[in-house]
Amino acid sequence: MQEKGLYLPIQYLKGVGPKKALLLQKLGIRTVFDALYYLPIQYEDRRNKKSIYELKPGDIVSITGKIVEINELSPKKGLKILEIVISDGTGFVKAKWFNQTYLSKILKPKIFIKIFGKVQLDFRGNAFEILNPEFDIKDEDSKEVSEILPIYRLTEGLSQKQMRNIIKAALEYSKAYLSDYLPEYLIRKLNLSEISEAFYGVHFPPSNLPIKEVKDGITPYHKRIIFDELFLLQLGIVLIKKSQQKEKGISIQGKGKLIEEFINNLPFKLTKAQHRVIREILEDMKRPVPMNRLLQGDVGCGKTIVALIAMLAAVEAGYQTALMAPTEILAEQHFKNISSLLKNLKVNVIIHTSEHNKYTNLISSGVAHIVVGTHALIQEYVKFKNLGLIVIDEQHRFGVIQRYLLKKKGFNPDTLVMTATPIPRTLALTVYGDLDYSIIDELPSGRKPVITEVIDKNNKKKVYSLIEEEIQKGGQVYIVYPLIDESENLDLHNAKRGYEILQKIFPQYSIGLLHGKLPYKKREEIMESFRKGDIKILVSTTVIEVGVDVPNASLMIITNAERFGLSQLHQLRGRVGRGVRPSRCILIPYNMTKEAEMRLKAMVNYNDGFKIAEEDLNIRGPGELFGTKQSGMPDLKSVNLIRDKEILEIARKEAELLLQEEPYLQHFPQLKAKLEEFWKNKIENFTVA
Ligand code: ADP
Ligand code: MG
Repeated sequence: MQEKGLYLPIQYLKGVGPKKALLLQKLGIRTVFDALYYLPIQYEDRRNKKSIYELKPGDIVSITGKIVEINELSPKKGLKILEIVISDGTGFVKAKWFNQTYLSKILKPKIFIKIFGKVQLDFRGNAFEILNPEFDIKDEDSKEVSEILPIYRLTEGLSQKQMRNIIKAALEYSKAYLSDYLPEYLIRKLNLSEISEAFYGVHFPPSNLPIKEVKDGITPYHKRIIFDELFLLQLGIVLIKKSQQKEKGISIQGKGKLIEEFINNLPFKLTKAQHRVIREILEDMKRPVPMNRLLQGDVGCGKTIVALIAMLAAVEAGYQTALMAPTEILAEQHFKNISSLLKNLKVNVIIHTSEHNKYTNLISSGVAHIVVGTHALIQEYVKFKNLGLIVIDEQHRFGVIQRYLLKKKGFNPDTLVMTATPIPRTLALTVYGDLDYSIIDELPSGRKPVITEVIDKNNKKKVYSLIEEEIQKGGQVYIVYPLIDESENLDLHNAKRGYEILQKIFPQYSIGLLHGKLPYKKREEIMESFRKGDIKILVSTTVIEVGVDVPNASLMIITNAERFGLSQLHQLRGRVGRGVRPSRCILIPYNMTKEAEMRLKAMVNYNDGFKIAEEDLNIRGPGELFGTKQSGMPDLKSVNLIRDKEILEIARKEAELLLQEEPYLQHFPQLKAKLEEFWKNKIENFTVA
C-alpha cells in the first residue's frame, strides 16, 4: 500500500512519474515531504536587472539581450564548449556552457535571450562572462509571472524549469495536508508565518521582499521553516533530558578519604577549573538520579585526572567503574597511567580490550574496581557485578548507541562523557543537548601556546634542521603521516618510507615507527622507549591522534597536513605543548585546496580549541557537522547552525518554557503528533507521554 499525505512517494505526484522520480531520488527526494524541504540554493531575483555596461565581477544578475555570435569550441578531447555573445546595446557579455551540445540546437543568432548567473572576467581579463548560466528564451510577448525564481541544485537530466514545476506541484498537493501544528501563541509571539505560507514563500517568494533577504536566502519564510526544525529538535532533547532525570539511579557518595589521599599524592596542584568541575561532578553523582554529564575542555587541560577522581568516588562507595577509550593505544595508556597513579591505594585496575581480554571473571565477580578498555567493553560476554559509573573518553569517536550499550551493563549508572575537542555551544545544544555540562576553561599553569607554522614540502632542509635543533635542546619529535585513500596499507607505506628516509638522515638518533598493525608487545615497547626518551623521533600513523601523553615531546610534524580535518589537526598538535618545554607544530601540505588553506590558517592563528571548533564549523558549513551524523539526532534539512544560532537559542528557550507548562503537550495534540513523527526511527519508541 502506498503511503498518502505528505509521504506520498514522489513518483505519484502529478507530472513526475517513474523516470523523473529516479532522478529526484538522486537528490534525496523520495516523497512530497522531501520536495517541500528541498530548499533553493539561491534565487534568481529578476528585479536585479542590469545593463551590461553596469556589470562588475561577482554580480549575480539577469541580463537580457540579443545573441550576436555563437561559437562551438573543442579545446581538448572530451570537452565541448558552446559560447555565445550577447549584446543589449550597452555592451557585450559572453555566456559559456560546457558539454551541453544540445544547446546549439536551441540557441541561434539573433534571438533574444535572458541569462542569469554570476559575472566574472574571462581569462584574458578584458571581457565579462557567465559560466553555465540559467537561461530563458524570450518570445516578445511573454509576460513574467514571478520576479523571484528559485534555483535548485540539480542532477543531469533535470532542468530548473522541470524542478520548479515539480516543487509547485508538491506545494499544491500538500496544501490539503499541511496544517499548522505550532501553538498559536508561538506564532504570534515570534511573529512567524503560517506553515503552508512558509513553504510556499521559501520556494516562490513574493515580489515585495527586500533584495538583501532574497540574496542571503533568509526570508521570513525561512525563519519559520528553520524554527520548526530546531524547535522540534529541542523539544525532543529537553524531553529526553527530563525523562533521564526521572529515572531512578544510584546515589554515589563516598567518604572522600580515598579522593583526598589521591589528590594529596599528585605531583601537581589541580587547577581552579579542575576543582570546580570535580565539585560539579561529585554533587551530581550524589543525586539519586543518573548523571548524564559532558566534560568539555581543550586538549591537555587535564580531563583524565578529573575523570579518575569521579571514578574513585564510585569505587569508595562500593561500585565498579568503567573507562572506555576509542583506541587500543589510548586504553593501554590510560591503564598504565591510572595504575601508576593509584599504585599506593587499594584499588584494583584492569584493562579489557580485544587484545587484553583474559580477565572477564574479575569484572563479573566485582574484584576489578576500575576497568579500562575499548569498545570491547560493550560486548555481550562482559558482565559487571555492580557498575556505578561509566566514563567515555573522546566521545566524538563513539555514537549514542555505544554509550547506551555500555550503560546497559549496569542499572542506570552515572555517565561522564569527555569530548576530545571542545565544541561550540550551538553544536553542543544540538548534539549533546540532553547532557549537563562541565567545562574546564583553564590549562595547567606553565603551558605555552604551541607555535604553529606551515612549511613548504620542498623545504626539507628547514624541517630537518628544526628536528636536529629540538633534539639537541633535549626535546623529542613526532612525525605523523596521514591516512591516504582510506587504505591503511598505503597509510602505513607512507609512514614506513618516511621512517627509512629519516633513519638515513639521522643515523645518530634512535627512531621509532608506530602504527596500529604492530603487535601489542611491540607497540608497548616503542611507546615506552619514547616515553623514557630513548627514542627521539617517533614516526607514526594517526594512531597517536588522541590522548597520547608524553610531556617531553615538543615538536610535532604533520605531513600531508591538507588531508586532515581541523579538529584532527588540533588533536594532533595537542600531543606537544604538554610539558614545560616550548613547543612547535609544523604543517607540511602537499596538495593545497582552498578549504585546506583555511584550515591550516586557522591552525596557525589559533591555539584555543573552542576557537578552532568554531572555525571548523565555519569552514565546513552546515552540511557536514562533525558528530551530528553519528549522534543519532534527526537530520536538520534547513538549518545552518552558524547562521541560525539565534533561532536555535530561541527554540531551546521556547521548548523549555512550553514543557514546563505542558510536560505532555496535553493541549497541543497536533504538535505532539508532529514531534513523534520528527523523532521516529531515531529514538526507540519515542513518545511524549
Ligand atoms: P586531556 O584533557 O587532553 O585528556 P590529560 O588529562 O591527558 O589531558 O592531561 C594532560 C597532561 O597534563 C597530563 O600529563 C596530566 O598529567 C597533566 N595535568 C593534568 N592536570 C594538571 C595540573 N593541574 N597541573 C599540571 N599538570 C596537569
Ligand atoms: Mg584525554
